[in-house]
Amino acid sequence: MKILVAMKRVVDYNVKVRVKSDGSGVDIANVKMSMNPFDEIAVEEAVRLREAGIATEVVAVSCGVTQCQETLRTAMAIGADRGILVESADELQPLAVAKILKALVDKEQPQLVILGKQAIDDDSNQTGQMLAALTGLPQATFASKVVVADGKATVAREVDGGSETLSLKLPAVITTDLRLNEPRYVTLPNIMKAKKKPLETLKPADLGVDVAPRLKTLKVAEPPKRSAGVMVPDVKTLVEKLKTEAKVL
Ligand code: AMP
Repeated sequence: MKILVAMKRVVDYNVKVRVKSDGSGVDIANVKMSMNPFDEIAVEEAVRLREAGIATEVVAVSCGVTQCQETLRTAMAIGADRGILVESADELQPLAVAKILKALVDKEQPQLVILGKQAIDDDSNQTGQMLAALTGLPQATFASKVVVADGKATVAREVDGGSETLSLKLPAVITTDLRLNEPRYVTLPNIMKAKKKPLETLKPADLGVDVAPRLKTLKVAEPPKRSAGVMVPDVKTLVEKLKTEAKVL
């Protein structure tokens, strides 16, 4: 069984992003970039399935600029067997990525496609769902547990107020939530090994995909600054202020 895992190169989660002065986006010049955290969970899950003898091959895919190769090498250091970079300098919106992944699903015929539930840069939470729609495959989003057996995936999903369990006939699309697993640390020997693993580079046009943006960003702005707090002498004054000033009581 082959597993395709999608990984996005995003601004590292520790970086405090700054909005560009013209409001056209966030400044990513000289900023540390890393694999989207939910995609680390996705590749970890795929590698665990291969280590358990359930999957035979894990293929990591990233769409974007040349530097996404580094993201793919990290995936291969975690344990992916090979990487595919679909290289494009254009802004790739979720629909464009979903179309690319659909073309790769047609080409590679995986039994399982695992994506992150969302990318921490655009917070779209769309690509997995769009891929499932384009391919007509069953989907389970926000997975917190995945069991694969007898041509089926049994997936526990994080939903409001609890967990829902779905049974999907393979091939299927799964998106990962935070509690699915804890990704392993990448070791130096595995980083070295990853350098020798195959990495194929394609262009969206090679897959017959039009990646032209369908959405236009009108403006990006910082959240409003929090105003300074006020010290109150006692509870009585606090309750008074909550009633008369904040009007929340
Ligand atoms: P989003 O819909 O943008 O929140 O992204 C959800 C998931 O889709 C991510 O966690 C990735 O697994 C995948 N994805 C999004 N953009 C890309 C990309 N450029 N390359 C590869 N995978 C991506």
